[in-house]
Amino acid sequence: MNVHEYQAKGLLKSFHIPVPFGVCIEENTSSAIATALRAFKGRPKVVVKAQIHAGGRGKGHFKESGTSGVRLVETEHAAEVVADMFGKTLVTNQTGAEGRVVHKVYVTETVAVAREFYLSLLIDRDRQCPVLMASDSGGCDVETVAQTHPEKVLTFPVDPLLGLQPFQARRVAYLFQLIGEAFNECIELLLNLYRAFVASDACLIEINPLVLTQEGHLSALDCKMQLDDNARFRHENFVSFEDPNETDPTEAEAKSVGIHNYVALDGDIACLANGAGLGMATLDLLDTLGGKAANFLDIGDTASAEQIEAGFRILLKHPKTRGVFVNIFGGTLPCDRVVQGLISVTETVALRVPCVMRLMGNRKDEGLALLQRSGLPVFVTEDLTQAAETIVRETKAAL
Ligand code: GDP
Ligand code: MN
Repeated sequence: MNVHEYQAKGLLKSFHIPVPFGVCIEENTSSAIATALRAFKGRPKVVVKAQIHAGGRGKGHFKESGTSGVRLVETEHAAEVVADMFGKTLVTNQTGAEGRVVHKVYVTETVAVAREFYLSLLIDRDRQCPVLMASDSGGCDVETVAQTHPEKVLTFPVDPLLGLQPFQARRVAYLFQLIGEAFNECIELLLNLYRAFVASDACLIEINPLVLTQEGHLSALDCKMQLDDNARFRHENFVSFEDPNETDPTEAEAKSVGIHNYVALDGDIACLANGAGLGMATLDLLDTLGGKAANFLDIGDTASAEQIEAGFRILLKHPKTRGVFVNIFGGTLPCDRVVQGLISVTETVALRVPCVMRLMGNRKDEGLALLQRSGLPVFVTEDLTQAAETIVRETKAAL
């Protein structure tokens, strides 16, 4: 899951990583804004930052006003600038053309920047370990730097058993050409960052930019953080990081009915399978055949009739759904329970799109009989490739 910049910085701070002082404003009332801004009394300027789960805010623009999502303003005008961001749509190179509506605004102290660096820790799935990336050209788009000047990005794996080593941290401090106190601060910051990464079960912590202030100290001016949802059970604070405004509404609905393996995707074929591996294979097969899945949904092997119904309801209601593909390898989960789930849902939600079921295994014949009796226009086969080809073809034909 993604967290907001202000939450990420709160986490960094708890690991003794220096961040600029800031206050997050969560409601657009003049009293809430005034209370927050009181903390900046005596400072001539502040930075006002829109909080959305996407980067590129500084270079982005609001649809309504054309102004940027990160603004350095005089404190006396800050209240207007804050109020003006609430409820507005920010478009950045990471949001897509539709942009994101701003529901929270973070105000921070200004920092006199001498130099900007890039720093990140992430899980590298190919190397199967954390990787540290650093560059002395911070502030800008690191993907571009990596492409145009790969020599400017230092990348090295971190042994998960040994952790980040001081000599590795020193390599980064040398790359940043830091001297004196800042050099030592950098080593300490990196070791703390690695501790934060492991202790928080993060998949990504990206500090862009990390800055050297004109006073000669380091400060994390921005932070993007992704936490591993699978580690939710051992982090009570993960719940507090959730922001319903940033969650896909369908994913939220799935969670609320106890379905934890629903992931929204960009395509138009709604999918339901029993088992994560089968679900992934289903998505791959659709992709190979030129279809695009609207979601990943693993109903699991112990799903109750209610959960199956809830799953189908979510699939059928989704505005993007142009076809429904069910792939069940009946084991612990009997095929007819899945069929019954679909039949029950169609009593209240019409099945207006093509539907293909690949049924195999436990209680397949009972499932087939149920379907026939229901009269639902569902194409059933045991053959997975045939099933996938059919739903891809019918979904395209129905367009
Ligand atoms: P992003 O565009 O979403 O990555 O948002 P950032 O938080 O990184 O802000 C964009 C840019 O604004 C940064 O790269 C900095 O160059 C600049 N910026 C943000 N805060 C300050 C500040 O306090 N002082 C100065 N000089 N620049 C800042
Ligand atoms: Mn940034």
